[in-house]
Amino acid sequence: MLKAGGLGLDRRQLLSGIIGSLLFYRAFPSDAAAHATTLVEVAPGVFVHRGEHAPGYTPANRGDISNCGFVVGGECVAVIDTGGTAAFGKELHQAIRGVTPLPVRYVVNTHMHPDHVLGNAAFRGDGTHFVGHHKLAAALTARAERYIAANKTAAGDEAFAGTEIVLPDMAVETTTSLDLGGRRLELVARRTAHTDNDLTVRDEATGTLFVGDLIFSGHVPALDGSIRGWISLLEELSATPAERIVPGHGPASMPWPAAATPMLQYLQAIATDVRDAIAKGRSMSETMRTAAEGERANWELFDEFHPRNVSAAFAELEWE
Ligand SMILES: [Zn+2]
Repeated sequence: MLKAGGLGLDRRQLLSGIIGSLLFYRAFPSDAAAHATTLVEVAPGVFVHRGEHAPGYTPANRGDISNCGFVVGGECVAVIDTGGTAAFGKELHQAIRGVTPLPVRYVVNTHMHPDHVLGNAAFRGDGTHFVGHHKLAAALTARAERYIAANKTAAGDEAFAGTEIVLPDMAVETTTSLDLGGRRLELVARRTAHTDNDLTVRDEATGTLFVGDLIFSGHVPALDGSIRGWISLLEELSATPAERIVPGHGPASMPWPAAATPMLQYLQAIATDVRDAIAKGRSMSETMRTAAEGERANWELFDEFHPRNVSAAFAELEWE
């Protein structure tokens, strides 16, 4: 890595920091110097780490394959998603220490997927509350064994050490407000869309909306809930103003509602083609090879996730 002065910034990051007029912080955990956590301050006091696009865990990425972030209030910090392993969660925690000494009082999980929640263990203690959709605990409990086993195998024992499921101790039924000290976050439990436990987090001070995996950019979306619910929720959210959103996969922040347009186009293409295939009596396997093929050029990891999305949509739309 090319170092720029003593800042620990490599040249590419320094350049993009200058171009984007954004502050980059790079914290070097003493026990994992090879894995520094890069943060972007997308709005005053709102920091985001961008995970890499990958089909899954590897020993090299340590489950750092989704976006996470944190908001600094007057008295405490709220973390929004924690990455995919305790090792990565620890790096994120140390990166937060590079920004503020305030305690992490809340860890908010946007939904159940392992790459968003399996870093939680790194934040346990000091009275930290774990917050999620009221359906998150049941969803995680049902999948715990599979999530741990599959990702441990993929990441390897070393990268996965200390990683475990940490269930929420605060459940959001409809909406909840978290007070960070002169700064409030509004949490909303959403209806089934990407999953059945999607939660959004709005920082009132800056109008920043963390949407979790309701928005993917670049990385093809992954459907694990309801295609009809996801389309209708995105249409509804598009009418709700926000200064910027933080997607679950993609850039650190994006303009709103523009970020919803490619998502809606993709999901609607699947819904249209799958309904057409069902009406014509085509099989699921045939539909998996043909539905929304026109979207291929717009997304990375298309072969890894798209056929599964089509089969999930087929199973749902077959019965409407
Ligand atoms: Zn997800």
